[in-house]
Amino acid sequence: MTIDADNKKNLNKVPAWKDIETVLLDMDGTLLDLHFDNHFWLQHVPLCYAEKHGLSADEAHQQLMDRYAAVRGSLDWYCVDFWSRELSLDIKQLKHDIASMISIRPDVVTFLSWLNKNNKRVVLVTNAHPVSLDLKMQKTNLHVHFDNIINAHEIGLAKENEGFWEKLQDVEAYNKQSTMLIDDNLEVLECASHYGIKHCYGIGRPDSQGDIIKSEKFITLNGFKEILP
Ligand SMILES: [Mg+2]
Repeated sequence: MTIDADNKKNLNKVPAWKDIETVLLDMDGTLLDLHFDNHFWLQHVPLCYAEKHGLSADEAHQQLMDRYAAVRGSLDWYCVDFWSRELSLDIKQLKHDIASMISIRPDVVTFLSWLNKNNKRVVLVTNAHPVSLDLKMQKTNLHVHFDNIINAHEIGLAKENEGFWEKLQDVEAYNKQSTMLIDDNLEVLECASHYGIKHCYGIGRPDSQGDIIKSEKFITLNGFKEILP
C-alpha cells in the first residue's frame, strides 16, 4: 500500500503552537454542526415557502435551489433580510422555530478553552448574518471564548470574496505568518491562503449527517483533538 499525498499531509496535523498567536474561527460547519443550516435551507424553508405560495413541495424546492444558486458565495446568500424580502417569509422567526436543532460540534469547548488558557487571540469570523449569529451565541454560549467577534456583513464582503482578508486587518489586525484559520468552506480557505494566512485548516465533516469534504490542498480535521498538543 502506498501513502498518497493526502495521507502524508494529514499524518501530523498538530501545528507548532508556539508560532501561532491568533486563531480565526468560522462558526457554521466549524464550531457548530452544519446540519442545522442544511436542514433549515434545504427542508424547513422550502416547506414554509410551498405553504405560503401554494406550491407543491417539488416546485418550491426547485424554485429555491435556483434562487440559492444565483447568489451563492455573495453576502446576500448569507443575509436574513435579503431572504425575508425575496421569499416573503419571516426568516428570523423560522430560525427561532427550529433553534433547538442548533448544536456544538464535538470537542469545541475543550479546544476553545485550551486556546483561552494558552493566551491565543481567539476570533470568530463568520459570514452569518447578525440575526443568525445572535441566535447561535444565545443558544450555545460560545461567545464567552472569543476576544473578538466579526461578521462579514460589517466588512461588506463575504469571506470567500477577493479582498476580505485584507480588509479584516482594519478591524482585527493580525500577522499572516502567525495566524491559524479553521473554516469548513474550501473557497474561504483558498482565498485566505492566497492572501497569505499561513495555517489554514478545513473540516472533514461539517454536517454530522452529510458527506465528507476532501481537499488536495488543505488539511481537514475530523476533530479538534487532532490539533491539540
Ligand atoms: Mg462555515
